[in-house]
Amino acid sequence: MTTIDDRSAVRLPDRLLIGGEWRSGSAGTVADLNPATEELLVDVQAASAGDVDQAVQAARAQLDGAWGATPGAERGRILNRVADLIERDAEHLARLEALDVGKPVGQPSMLDVPNAIATFRHFAGWADKITGSTIPTAGYFGRPTHSYTVREPVGVIGAIIPWNTPLMISGWKLAPALAAGNTVVVKPAEDAPLSTLHLAALLQEAGLPDGVVNVVPGRGDVAGAALVAHPDVDKISFTGSPEVGRTIQVTAAETFKRVTLELGGKSPQIVLADADIEAAVNGTAMGLFFNQGEVCAAGTRVLVHRSVYGQVVEGLAGAARAQVLGDPFDGATTMGALVNAKQRDRVLSYIEAGRAEGATVAAGGGRPDGKGFFVEPTIFADANNAMRIAQEEIFGPVGTVIPFDDPAEAVRLANDTRYGLAATIWTRDVAAAHTLAGQVRAGAVWINGWAAIDPALPWGGMKSSGIGRELGWSGILANTEEKTVTVVL
Ligand code: ADP
Repeated sequence: MTTIDDRSAVRLPDRLLIGGEWRSGSAGTVADLNPATEELLVDVQAASAGDVDQAVQAARAQLDGAWGATPGAERGRILNRVADLIERDAEHLARLEALDVGKPVGQPSMLDVPNAIATFRHFAGWADKITGSTIPTAGYFGRPTHSYTVREPVGVIGAIIPWNTPLMISGWKLAPALAAGNTVVVKPAEDAPLSTLHLAALLQEAGLPDGVVNVVPGRGDVAGAALVAHPDVDKISFTGSPEVGRTIQVTAAETFKRVTLELGGKSPQIVLADADIEAAVNGTAMGLFFNQGEVCAAGTRVLVHRSVYGQVVEGLAGAARAQVLGDPFDGATTMGALVNAKQRDRVLSYIEAGRAEGATVAAGGGRPDGKGFFVEPTIFADANNAMRIAQEEIFGPVGTVIPFDDPAEAVRLANDTRYGLAATIWTRDVAAAHTLAGQVRAGAVWINGWAAIDPALPWGGMKSSGIGRELGWSGILANTEEKTVTVVL
């Protein structure tokens, strides 16, 4: 296995891609750090509003030109080639992701990279199957009519990517957009642009015409804001914080842009009294600690029936203590570093808030000595749902375990949040599982397994977790406009 020290042998991507050319940006550079060592990986070129404008123009030209006339079957062939190339570069992409995000390299190998491959394959399949319908009508002033609908691309799509799982989310935004015939300007996150830039090189290699996908790394409040405000961008697809999501929706309203927003959550994991407790503890721990807890669907509120509460707290505390923090390239490491110092300090401040509010630290609660933005996996017991650690998204390895006395109370607690992205239910009782699944307000409900995601399944949140759905047929709907055609016969 490659270690971090071997990274100097790898040339890291650091430029903008506009109209098929890899170029410098005109807004200086953004330092991209290795979260596990705090060392500089590379200074990445940063796009200005002018660069973003050129990227949008390149995307618009392709929409009105060759790409706009490319049949779905050909778009599908290109997307399948992209999937093959990601598969070819799987190890390299996993390393880039580990290096940039700070996560153990085994995790992108197991999830992010295979998910990106599957997403491109899934949408390659849709590309030549985007159909409308024929609709009978009452006619037009006594004359019969023939009416049908077609689905057309939305246009130029601005895709704004977060730093936690950038390859996977770039795939979630690019594959459906391209399958449906759109062109795209991608704004990667400041802290982790490398895998998205490598993916852009693979899109070129797969034969995607120049300008169909452009990548403008840079600052959110410069390049990202310019993309959102640009009058010739038709839609913004954003994954990130609710604060930035709100700014985006407000700005997008000025030009009536379509938006898809995925904004995180405070997802409950409900453990009923009859659950397989060992499976529930293992699965719940994964929902807390995978990707250092930097997951929008992290199951950070663990709601446990009082009869098994002590057992689950003990199990989760044990799972927290068993995590091995360290070098993401060491095979023994199970948890890496948080993405940057700001994120580490934010997580530590929530741990302090939990203590101050009277919750009990059952495991963790601090940070290890030495370099790297590491925080100990932490379990809070004796918590209640009104505490900040139960209401606010922490985006780190911190779980809040809250007891309940009956399933109705579990549902009330689960829904007592401004978020609604995901929920997990642990039970052996089929009727209870489906009843609770119907009562929990969340875009995705998983029974007996955390984060059972798939490119065929719609993904997105209710309430403050966002607007719209990505993936599956819903991903095609989100990337197309419906047009009605009527012939008066
Ligand atoms: P986090 O808080 O997890 O870092 P953000 O929501 O701040 O997540 O960032 C997600 C993405 O949004 C990043 O690519 C970031 O550069 C971008 N971004 C940040 N601010 C803005 C903005 N004002 N307009 C558009 N994009 C932005």
